[in-house]
Amino acid sequence: MLSQHHSPGEPMARRSTALWLALLLSFSAWAGNDEDIARRSCEAPSDTGSVVVGSGLPGDPALPEPSSGYRIGIVPVLSKQYMVVTANPLATQAGCEVLRAGGSAADAAVAVQMVLGLVEPQSSGLGGGAFIVHYDAAAKTVQTYDGRETAPSGATEDYLRFISATDPSAPLPDARRSGRSIGTPGAVRVLEMLHREHGAKPWADLFDPARRLAIHGFAIGGRMADAIAGARNDLLRDQDAVAYFLDAELKPRALGSTILNPAYADTLARIAAGGADAFYSGAIAQDIVAEISRDAAAPDAPGPLTPGLTTLADMDRYRAVKRGPVCIDYRTYRVCGMGPPSSGAIAVGQTLGILENFGMDVFGPSAIDLHGGKPSVMGVHLVSEAQRLAYADRNKYVADTDFVPLPANGVASLLDKNYLRSRANLIRFDRSMGVAQPGAFPAAEPQGASVQEGKGTSHVSIVDARGNAVAMTTTIESGMGSFRFVRGFLLNNELTDFSAQPADATGPIANRIGPLKRPRSSMAPTLVFKRADNGSLGTLAMVTGSPGGAAIIQFVSKTVIGLADWGLDAQQAAALVNFGAGNSTTTGIGGEHPAIDASDAGANDALVIGLRALGHAVSVRAQSSGIATILRFEVDGETRLQGGADPRREGLALGDGLAR
Ligand code: GLU
Repeated sequence: MLSQHHSPGEPMARRSTALWLALLLSFSAWAGNDEDIARRSCEAPSDTGSVVVGSGLPGDPALPEPSSGYRIGIVPVLSKQYMVVTANPLATQAGCEVLRAGGSAADAAVAVQMVLGLVEPQSSGLGGGAFIVHYDAAAKTVQTYDGRETAPSGATEDYLRFISATDPSAPLPDARRSGRSIGTPGAVRVLEMLHREHGAKPWADLFDPARRLAIHGFAIGGRMADAIAGARNDLLRDQDAVAYFLDAELKPRALGSTILNPAYADTLARIAAGGADAFYSGAIAQDIVAEISRDAAAPDAPGPLTPGLTTLADMDRYRAVKRGPVCIDYRTYRVCGMGPPSSGAIAVGQTLGILENFGMDVFGPSAIDLHGGKPSVMGVHLVSEAQRLAYADRNKYVADTDFVPLPANGVASLLDKNYLRSRANLIRFDRSMGVAQPGAFPAAEPQGASVQEGKGTSHVSIVDARGNAVAMTTTIESGMGSFRFVRGFLLNNELTDFSAQPADATGPIANRIGPLKRPRSSMAPTLVFKRADNGSLGTLAMVTGSPGGAAIIQFVSKTVIGLADWGLDAQQAAALVNFGAGNSTTTGIGGEHPAIDASDAGANDALVIGLRALGHAVSVRAQSSGIATILRFEVDGETRLQGGADPRREGLALGDGLAR
């Protein structure tokens, strides 16, 4: 299956066959008897066999460790019925327990998000937003759920750059740290919508794992400790943040120290009992609005804060939106993801649609090992050129389509195979194009381009025992969001994903801010299907996604190409060197990867040298992806799931079987 589309004799096909054999062998060694497997479900592999996550025993992946650049030697996790991959072992554990108890992928997503908001508060939570792509296995349908934050109804197009119409000076202390960056949160409403449609377990039960951890405490992990230390001075502006994240001497709480969050436990109890309404109205909503409206910083860091204009009515009127998926056929697969207000699926789809015009399988990585091997010069060249073209369109045309329509016939035009072939024809084999021009469409209005977006996000991939799947990318935008802490969770700074400038020399910017508009995102939660012979959706093959700001598009493209062209397994595709380009002359090669020699700015690395010879300005800056992938395939008519977690973060895959 993984290599079916490669014709025999191609180098890639041989490699894939070898991988496939290795996979089969590992399954026969792993299988054990059914009782054994049941006993070990939701346990993580360890030197002594397996270990319960959160037990504190040796080998427990939840034991706090300093955050490392790149974890060496992670093997894929194998399973038969269900699997969950998240960026944090405790969150993965919570999701796996829900699945073990017969919960659906939607149920597990709720439980996972509640734990992530506690143990990885810098990346996502109740105060942020999420995009969810869901596959209903019985109905064979894909739906996307938009829980993106909205701008307040009082936001003018100058909201992020001017204090007011009469005071055209910048918000204080800056847009991100002022109330202006904070959008009306969407995560709680969208999870409620998902659960209402696809939940199997009672809503209230899904809050128990997070509540227990919040009440009894958990040990601060490496990435959370780093995030607190890095944000200390900004957290000082908020007394609640000081009380939670800093100690009595105002020092950042340290790695491994136990932290309790009773305020969060109380918030969860209210939402568990009262549903999302308990968040969007009443005491919680009042506290959120009061925090956004605050105009003076805390005593530990005095100074003015420009208030945001969010009202209780904005909270009350927030709605999650169900939207059709954006899909493109790539080789023998159908790749489906999140359309506007995210640019994710359009940009990933354009990248793939352009690359379909090239035989990518011969340009795969060499010396493939657990870490994915070393990408080839031509492979990186073609992918990054395709991405330049895709980002050029994204930057100019894609925004919240409820406010600004896409050009021509919308998604159909942007993903049209003839159009993408014409874009592919702009790629030369011997020279980088540097910067791409957007495609010429009769746009509704002349449009300037915007390239906003930041960091601080998490991705969750889930498959349940009935074959349903969730790909959820969830965010508070930058690490620690706006640094404002309310009732145990951080508020987002998502509105900085808008263009602060409403126009440039060529015209108004599609992604300018406006009342109740949703900022354009790059988040790309993705489901990949192996198409059926009759061209229909076929069978689920992959669930994936990543944090990483605008580079998410590159991380997800890499992972899908890893599956479809290069026969990589779930772990190899996540581990593989990150590479790609936005629409600039710079091509990024993730220098944190063991296969890249980042010394002297890459001057000694064959891949970097080869790309520079083609005119790429190469950066070997470390790239902090957080890919979480599940591959699904069949062996002798039985389903197999294989999970991969990005070695660049603390993620973990767990399922009903056990990895070797
Ligand atoms: N806020 C960004 C977006 O929606 C994501 C930020 C990140 O991944 O760190 O695209």
